[in-house]
Formats: sequence, C-alpha cells, structure tokens
Amino acid sequence: MTDPDCLFCRIVAEELPAEVVLDRDDVLAFRDVNPQAPTHVLVVPKDHLPSVEALGAGHERLLASLVDAVNEVARANGVNGGFRMVTNVGPAAGQSVDHLHLHVLGGRAMTWPPG
Ligand code: 5GP
Ligand code: ZN
Repeated sequence: MTDPDCLFCRIVAEELPAEVVLDRDDVLAFRDVNPQAPTHVLVVPKDHLPSVEALGAGHERLLASLVDAVNEVARANGVNGGFRMVTNVGPAAGQSVDHLHLHVLGGRAMTWPPG
C-alpha cells in the first residue's frame, strides 16, 4: 500500500532522502525538514494511510508500534519525560502531507493551547 504521488511514501521507498532515526518493519521515523523544536521527528507507518482517522479495528499492532516508536525516538533524543506528540488531521488543523505522521517535538518549553 503505497501512493506513488505521496511525499512520505517516497521517503519510505528511499526515492527521496531523509535523515532516518528509526527503521522498523512497519514504521519509519525521520527528522522534520523544517524543525519547530530542537528535536522534531516524524513517525510514520510504512503503509500509506491518509491520517489518524484511517486507523481503526485491525490496526492495533500498527498503533502500538507507532506509539512505541515515538517513545523510542524520545528516549534516543533525550527528551523522554518532556515532549509533545502531535498529529494534524485535515487542512483546518494544518495537515500538509496526507500520510499519517506523528510529530515528536521536544527540547524546548511548550505552550498550551497550540495555535
Ligand atoms: P503536517 O503539516 O502535515 O502536520 O506536517 C508535515 C510536516 O512534514 C511538516 O512539519 C514539514 O516540515 C514536514 N515535511 C514536509 N516535506 C518534508 C520533506 O520532504 N522531508 C521531511 N523530512 N519533512 C518534510
Ligand atoms: Zn503515503
């Protein structure tokens, strides 16, 4: 399940470069090209799924793997215990790449609510 026109599918397929920090059977994590914090990593499923709304029954293992990868990325970057996990859904929330991704942001103070 890949979309040849999808930016993150092309990163998963190694057609486009990325600074990969974690590579599993089902999940890839790479640094955001436009980081919004000292640590800013994107955790994505290798299969093309448009957003978190596409996750449901049958995705239990993938969901667990995504969250486990987020925690591993946080630990590896020294931000465990103080990071934010964000996923945007749709243009109103600021989603600009239609391939599910969990932002892992850390290394600076965060404010709430987000903009
Ligand atoms: P969204 O706005 O969809 O929640 O997040 C998309 C993220 O992907 C943005 O933070 C943006 O900086 C990042 N991004 C866009 N294009 C690329 C790219 O080609 N490589 C990497 N590593 N990140 C990208
Ligand atoms: Zn994709």
